[in-house]
Amino acid sequence: MEKQTIGRFAPTPSGRLHLGNIFTAMIGYLSARSQGGKYLLRIEDLDVARCPKSVAYGIMRDLDYFGFEFDGEILWQSERAQVYERYLNTLERQGLIYPCYCSRAQLHAATAPHGDTPVYDGTCRRLSPSERPVRAGASRVIVPDKNVSFTDVLQGYYEQNLVKECGDFIVRRADGVFAYQLAVTVDDGESGVTEVVRGRDLLSSAPRQLFLFEKFGFQKPVFMHVPLLLDSDGARMSKREGKSNMEYIRSTLPDSRRVIGMLAFNAGLTDRYEPLSLNELSREYNADKLKKDDILLDDCGIFS
Ligand code: GLU
Repeated sequence: MEKQTIGRFAPTPSGRLHLGNIFTAMIGYLSARSQGGKYLLRIEDLDVARCPKSVAYGIMRDLDYFGFEFDGEILWQSERAQVYERYLNTLERQGLIYPCYCSRAQLHAATAPHGDTPVYDGTCRRLSPSERPVRAGASRVIVPDKNVSFTDVLQGYYEQNLVKECGDFIVRRADGVFAYQLAVTVDDGESGVTEVVRGRDLLSSAPRQLFLFEKFGFQKPVFMHVPLLLDSDGARMSKREGKSNMEYIRSTLPDSRRVIGMLAFNAGLTDRYEPLSLNELSREYNADKLKKDDILLDDCGIFS
């Protein structure tokens, strides 16, 4: 029997959503629903100091406005430290974890999924116990010197040598906060997620997660990394920006179908602009039509 599709949307509530996030959520939703599957919501508030609950609730209201319906319980990463600890222990038992005392900037990068961190050269791995400082260190996992490869539904074949292109990576920061890479793998694995749909900027994270999926004994999901939306200057959309800002959208456009229809047209899913709800769109969703490359947003006049 074919396994049921389970997709998920996993926003980090360090700021309100922007159109690019809605676009990603939309494709994930359409993909799951068009296969008769489930779609889950997970709040990635690992770094509670940067992710206030009020922002998370604002995100939920925004998702509601666009007509997203989620299955099951909402998962809050801030409530799952004990679960992550168990998985960290399994890595520890395999002798794959060592403490790292490198800079704060590197450690902060661990919970920020976007943005590249430099290849780690293993400095702290070489410290003998007597050379280690007394303060608490972050935990790094030792990666194997082999190529991890997979075929992304949209981006095609992708491979990475974890040693050469990434290095041992952080799974828990020195202040005890678990890292994105570990949490996302544990949660996708435990929730039985079968497809991960997210922005193309996270493509290079997938090999690290595939490595962890294997270590934890989870079934691996398929990945689909969707294009990023670019504004008229060709820059990636960000949370604060004018017209891609949810406050602006919701106050100017009471009918969210106009935004969904506009995004669908931009994605190549429809051949002309017309207002559509998510559920209307899911009936005609065809993944083959989806664009692969980043999209310069044509607002189809809805903002003028
Ligand atoms: N939390 C990440 C974000 O807000 C997404 C992580 C993922 O989908 O794997 O961009």
